[in-house]
Amino acid sequence: MVTMACIDCGAVHFQADSLREMLVAMMPHYFEAHHEVIQSHTMNPREAWMNRLRAAFEASG
Ligand SMILES: [Zn+2]
Repeated sequence: MVTMACIDCGAVHFQADSLREMLVAMMPHYFEAHHEVIQSHTMNPREAWMNRLRAAFEASG
């Protein structure tokens, strides 16, 4: 189980066993607190954010 903070505000922590589960666990928080991040994904490739998430996940695990 990996525990990590939200990579955009650090105020909320999440636990998951895999990167995909972490993504799913974070989504409600992102819809609630980081709408601008989600909306930017419609215009920008999400690779940059995914790379940040993956790096944080691997650093936490
Ligand atoms: Zn956040």
